[in-house]
Amino acid sequence: MKKASILLASLLSALMLAACGGDKKADTGKAGDAGDKAAKTAYATIGTGGITGVYYPTGGAIAKMVNNKRDQYNIRCTVEATGGSVFNVNAVMAGDLEFGVVQSDRQYQAINGMAEWKERGPQKDLRAVFSIHPESVTLAAAVDAGINDIRDLKGKRVNIGNPGSGQRQNSIDALQAVGLDYEKDLQAESVKAAEAPGLLQDGRIDAFFYTVGHPSGAFKEATAGVRKVRFVPITGIDELLAKYPYYAKSYVPVKEYPGAENEGDVETFGVKATLVTSAKVPDHVVYAVTKEVFENLEEFKGLHPAYSVLNKEEMLEGLSAEIHPGAMKYYKEAGLK
Ligand code: GLU
Repeated sequence: MKKASILLASLLSALMLAACGGDKKADTGKAGDAGDKAAKTAYATIGTGGITGVYYPTGGAIAKMVNNKRDQYNIRCTVEATGGSVFNVNAVMAGDLEFGVVQSDRQYQAINGMAEWKERGPQKDLRAVFSIHPESVTLAAAVDAGINDIRDLKGKRVNIGNPGSGQRQNSIDALQAVGLDYEKDLQAESVKAAEAPGLLQDGRIDAFFYTVGHPSGAFKEATAGVRKVRFVPITGIDELLAKYPYYAKSYVPVKEYPGAENEGDVETFGVKATLVTSAKVPDHVVYAVTKEVFENLEEFKGLHPAYSVLNKEEMLEGLSAEIHPGAMKYYKEAGLK
């Protein structure tokens, strides 16, 4: 099991290096640099998530599309592993990253000044580019912990997600929807999703939440160990789904995880992954990223099974921030807007 995850991690790193031309120095570059010839290259870094999630290969897939046309655009696109959606929004707003992969619910909250952005207010410069794969709020538990329903988490040790992640608020919302207070009713942990499968296998937690596309390395690892693990349904949450426009019913495709102790697909709810940027990022950079992903969508879809459901029209849905003018230029040209 350990070996499999190490292999997966090194495969992913190799993919990233290939996508980024192996030049980590480019991470420090800024988009839109001008000056002498060498400085005319625009550097665009995409913030993703942990390496056992789907954001990391997603960033790699986008970077690959753009870097394939380096001669044409003079853009070098690189990828960074991060703590997830909330971190990405804040880093894009701070100008530390040009792009971020962000859950659709987090995009909505950031632009409206809710949740983590309640005190700082609406993130006015946040701009949408497109939406990507669906993500399910996924709960996995050790079979020996006797957790068959989300309500059984009472009194258990549960990882709800690190503070920079998208999933943390989803876990809190799901727990609240079934009458559980994460601070009082369970022993909540706040570690990164990449660490949770190891903790579950080592018996240090009973369950963990992760909002992610499927299949993901994290759940492959969690379900491939000696300790038997099952996905747990999150149902009876109609009020929650009615309250927030960004939540919809979803499921965990169990066939992706042969080691899981489940018979059929597991019901839950979910969101969409989206790509965001800042109003300060130059139009030509956002245009290039948008155009290359849309014009090469079939190739893009082949890069991860989670993208199999993508189509151009739906990639313009689930966006709450204003669409960046660079992306809009392409959508108009392509007749999508
Ligand atoms: N949805 C998670 C987050 O926003 C990341 C999932 C992934 O990396 O695929 O933090």
